Amino acid sequence: MREPLLEVKDLKIYFPIKKGIRQKVASYVKAVDNVSFSIKEGETLGLVGESGCGKSTTGRGIAQLIKSTEGEVLFQGDCLQELSAKEMRSMRKEMQLVFQDPYASLNPRLTVEQILAEPLKAHGIERSKRRKLMEDIMEVCGLNKTYLHRYAHEFSGGQRQRIGIARALILKPKLIIADEPVAALDVSIQAQILNLLKDLQEEFRLTYLFISHDLSVVQHLCNRVAVMYLGRIVEIGEADKIFENRLHPYTESLIDAIPISNPRNRKERIILQGDVPSPVDPPKGCAFVGRCPKVMPCCHTDRPELLEHSDGHHVACHLYSAKTEKMEVSSCSESGGRV
Ligand code: SF4
Repeated sequence: MREPLLEVKDLKIYFPIKKGIRQKVASYVKAVDNVSFSIKEGETLGLVGESGCGKSTTGRGIAQLIKSTEGEVLFQGDCLQELSAKEMRSMRKEMQLVFQDPYASLNPRLTVEQILAEPLKAHGIERSKRRKLMEDIMEVCGLNKTYLHRYAHEFSGGQRQRIGIARALILKPKLIIADEPVAALDVSIQAQILNLLKDLQEEFRLTYLFISHDLSVVQHLCNRVAVMYLGRIVEIGEADKIFENRLHPYTESLIDAIPISNPRNRKERIILQGDVPSPVDPPKGCAFVGRCPKVMPCCHTDRPELLEHSDGHHVACHLYSAKTEKMEVSSCSESGGRV
């Protein structure tokens, strides 16, 4: 059995809200609250949810760009929070990020050569070897090596994202944290970049944490999917299982939102009403309680735990009890009734 490359254990990232002249901490924004998952080598985990659910903060917390409040991030067995700044710098070689906006993530005053040389210099790669590495990675990412002397602003969005991917891959990392890498691109270009990411994964045996709000994109690329809502994972499992048998009403609504070729074939769908509650003062029970079409009285008072429903498929919802092959209405729903 493959060992996990990355393990996230009970990760919490809280941002303090300070008030008054003395700047006393009045409360916390619970951006990431008790998030746990693991990713095996060569696997792609999709982290999905609406804007503000904490998925990008989780990605940045894993890369140690944001300090975590509690919990552990283990990469190849090493706890990243315990590493010194120097050790973390060298660890970054193995873990790279691809950002959402290819227009903002590349410095327009640098040539492609300067952009690609930055990580090589930072990790002490000799000058004589740099040029070959840059040309090779350009070719792998579908870019002409004569582009090395051009500036980033001379390229289209798709080409800029290829440069961003080349920059992330030039140090031959094991893990790529891709934060909405295609969200800012046209649909036709999105498909090219997704295919490129797939090909690169096969070629370099890459492991991806793929962060996206778009489940149709995740369906195309990911082996497993974790659905986040208000800083917590509400459903996680194999991508096929989640798309065939989504359990959580929130996952249901996200999958229902995927456009289909013939809308007449669409069955009744869940359309979410209302907004995501504030992460400063989340509901006492289930965080989805104010928007859930299947809400029960106990949902207002008891927070559902993330429990295993079937082989590796976990869900945090009072509608399901764990460890049963069959979906089963839990005792709380038996005693309850719809409100
Ligand atoms: Fe809906 Fe209750 Fe399940 Fe939360 S626990 S998703 S409110 S049914």
